[in-house]
Amino acid sequence: MRITSIETYQLECPLERPFGWSQGWTEKRATGIVKITTDAGIVGWGEGSGSPAAAIIHDIFAPWLLGSDPLNRLGIWQKMYHNLYNANLIGGFGGNAISAIDIALWDIAGKAAGQPICDLLGGRIRDRVAVYATGLYYTEGEFPNRLLDEARGYVDAGFMGMKTKVGGLQLAEDIKRVAALRKVIGPDIYLSVDANQAYNAATAIRIGQRLAEYDILWFEEPVGAKDLAGYRQAQSALPMAIAGGECLRTRYEFKEFFAQGILDIAQPDVMMVGGITELRNVAMTANTFGVQVNPHVWGSPIMIAATLHVISTIPPCPPAGTPEPFQQEPVMEFDRTPSIIREKLSPQPFAQVDGFVAVPTAPGLGVEVDEDLLQRLCVGRSISSR
Ligand code: MG
Repeated sequence: MRITSIETYQLECPLERPFGWSQGWTEKRATGIVKITTDAGIVGWGEGSGSPAAAIIHDIFAPWLLGSDPLNRLGIWQKMYHNLYNANLIGGFGGNAISAIDIALWDIAGKAAGQPICDLLGGRIRDRVAVYATGLYYTEGEFPNRLLDEARGYVDAGFMGMKTKVGGLQLAEDIKRVAALRKVIGPDIYLSVDANQAYNAATAIRIGQRLAEYDILWFEEPVGAKDLAGYRQAQSALPMAIAGGECLRTRYEFKEFFAQGILDIAQPDVMMVGGITELRNVAMTANTFGVQVNPHVWGSPIMIAATLHVISTIPPCPPAGTPEPFQQEPVMEFDRTPSIIREKLSPQPFAQVDGFVAVPTAPGLGVEVDEDLLQRLCVGRSISSR
């Protein structure tokens, strides 16, 4: 089997109501999709956001990737990595480009074998993955009513945990939001906060100490994504778990976090870290170091499926006999903010039942792509073919 064409699609869909986090506000949802076609008629889908990632795919990978055997996932991963390594492009969009191709190759391999990707990885440890609701962003005029209604909705829907943002307002205002959320969801639902790199270590520690009384499960990206010293300070000063890693690419960027023991929870993202191949590497390394893996997920059904397949194969941390979600079992981020891409790109969107999402069982990723919608949401398309 040979690769005959590589297509990239930049997708965008507008939001009815803009929302904000600590670094700004957004009026749209966007992602990048890749479609790889083979001479056997098998098509693979991948995801890795950003037009710079598409440029890397077409300019740097396509000249040799066209005509390659798509089943040689490791060989292709290594060649992609080395294309970018010496050019110092492996961070940022380089990781996204590798991720998009790698996910599509695994989709092809699964379809060629007639097996779901988790079976190609050795089989699954769990048939469903525990999830938490990501939402509770900043919206105009939201507080308190709309924010608290949203939180109540997640409790009513059966979620065991949820996550809100901090870092976009004055500390006192953010603390007020978290206090109100804890009051409305009660003591039994897990609540985490995400600063999206908003703080320096001193400020992160200051707000973290104040938030501790609201029983925060984890404090996510309290400082800059690669600020090892800041992570070390925050982790040693605060009582809640410290989480991070959604912006890191490949095991090499995670290495020092694990070696220094300064992450309690690792959050690799399959469409940035280096695809299914590298999510598995990072997750197993985290597990080896006693670090929980709760992957970052913020995209289409393609990357949700890719994440589910990998996480279905990661042991509890530690490999306990009666593991519980949020304690030893990995939990996956389940984005609940509005997104046509997430809800409609596949005819069967992923659904949460009793706090869990089922791992797909069909060959490959196990998701179909609505190509009419793909074309309608497309704001930029490129193709390389032979
Ligand atoms: Mg985050």
